Amino acid sequence: MKAISITQQKTQRDFMKERRQHGMGYVGRKYNQGGDTYEKEVKPARKMLERCFCHSYHTQCHVISEEERQLVFQEIWSMNDEGRRRYIWTQIDRIRSEREFSRKKQLLFYHLAIGGGRMRVCKKMFLSTTGIRQWWILNTIRQGVEHQEVE
Ligand SMILES: [Zn+2]
Repeated sequence: MKAISITQQKTQRDFMKERRQHGMGYVGRKYNQGGDTYEKEVKPARKMLERCFCHSYHTQCHVISEEERQLVFQEIWSMNDEGRRRYIWTQIDRIRSEREFSRKKQLLFYHLAIGGGRMRVCKKMFLSTTGIRQWWILNTIRQGVEHQEVE
């Protein structure tokens, strides 16, 4: 077996990180339940998922073309994680629900940046077009809240 030097390992790690950041397929680690051992795992490339077909008066999903969605997807994955966080903070509005007793209850309003504007879309459209996972979005929003409260 050929020995890999530390520099080579580092370069390979950066290479995989770069690929992950831009939504390309990469080799990552899949940890076991205890989190102390892992196996290498090939992670597939991100791809745009099927659009929604909603016709709500509140959203503009139905006027967005597949070409426009493709442009959004490309833009999102030309960014790094930091850029995607910023996108989420600017395109998702958090409104605290007045009718709820729980202070933590908040409503999320999703938008896509299209043609220099902001188009209101449903959650399914946002997730399928951006290819960003829901848990990552929720984490990002939570971090954003902490971020704003510290400032
Ligand atoms: Zn929709």
